[in-house]
Amino acid sequence: MTNHTTRTFNLALKGVQKLIPYKPGKPIDELKRELGLSHIVKLASNESPLGINPNVTIAITKALPNLSRYPDGGGFNLKTALSQKLGVNVEQITLGNGSNDLLEIITRSFVDTKLEIIFSQHAFAVYPIVTQAVGAIARVIPALNYGHDLDAMLDAVNAKTRLVFIANPNNPTGTLLKPEAIKNFIAALPETVLCVLDEAYFEFIAADKHANSISWLIEFPNLIITRTFSKAYGLAGLRIGYSLSSSEIADLLNRVRQPFNNNALALVAAEAALADEDYLALAVETNNQGMMQLTAAFKSLNLEWIPSAGNFISVDFKQPAIPIYEALLKKGVIVRPVGGIYEMPNHLRISIGTKKENLFFIEALSSVLANG
Ligand SMILES: *Cc1c(COP(=O)(O)O)cnc(C)c1O
Repeated sequence: MTNHTTRTFNLALKGVQKLIPYKPGKPIDELKRELGLSHIVKLASNESPLGINPNVTIAITKALPNLSRYPDGGGFNLKTALSQKLGVNVEQITLGNGSNDLLEIITRSFVDTKLEIIFSQHAFAVYPIVTQAVGAIARVIPALNYGHDLDAMLDAVNAKTRLVFIANPNNPTGTLLKPEAIKNFIAALPETVLCVLDEAYFEFIAADKHANSISWLIEFPNLIITRTFSKAYGLAGLRIGYSLSSSEIADLLNRVRQPFNNNALALVAAEAALADEDYLALAVETNNQGMMQLTAAFKSLNLEWIPSAGNFISVDFKQPAIPIYEALLKKGVIVRPVGGIYEMPNHLRISIGTKKENLFFIEALSSVLANG
């Protein structure tokens, strides 16, 4: 770098200077270009293997003629549908450009450089990113069996703490906390500490295991729940998610968010996706079947995995996993390394695909391990 660009670089917030850019899963087209492969299976970004919901295609097609207009910045129709489905008031909902957008809006709304944010080791990579981006102090609490150590997280709370992130289930570990444990944790937090409960994979959790977190909103004015249409609803490419909170918090978040942070197609797509319970049920069923298919294969390959409540699973190879990742790439399978910021260099995270995709992956993995 020249002195000039170095000086400009130094103008950025210290946390921004130290940011390591988020590494997304390798795009299919990139691998096709690099290796000249025609058939590629991507199990790297926890996307829906079912592809686009036909009802969403219809809704989007209908909305196309109006794209010269700004979208409904208030998201009236989608918020109304969400409020009816979830039993919350419209005023408690904030829409985001993906739920990542909300994680950032929440952080920017409440935390500055003097305050601390608590999250777990191995937790979702966006938490350290948004923490550093606002220049706040990150308190990373060592994980307990790859999951959140809620007692230790509570112990870390001090007068400077403003926010705690909890991913349930967590990505990339898939670990799930017991509803009572989360509820007790929030109850023990000072009211001056916000708890962001990130439920990006909520729809995949079995009904007898998921927390009724929405019902806690009445009790806990410092609770914010985030959810997304990217995973079970299959709309990752459109970028839409939402948060549920007290109406006071939602009012603040709605002041900070950009006026048109949800595009017109995402709004109608999310509404159509929300109405289609069959697609959702099929997504969950496909995931459950795929999870059984993969864990059975891991078992026969003598591999250990972390039991997962999400649409992905992390496998422990007990050796640096990057060579295995690269050997899989050569066979046309993209999975996700979780070293680096995730601190799991011996694991790979595999998103659950269709039965066929899972089989393609299992065969590739078996062959890689047999020849390694
Ligand atoms: C995927 C994911 C999100 C959000 O994704 P968006 O596409 O931005 O909605 C949030 N939290 C976790 C833990 C995730 O894995």
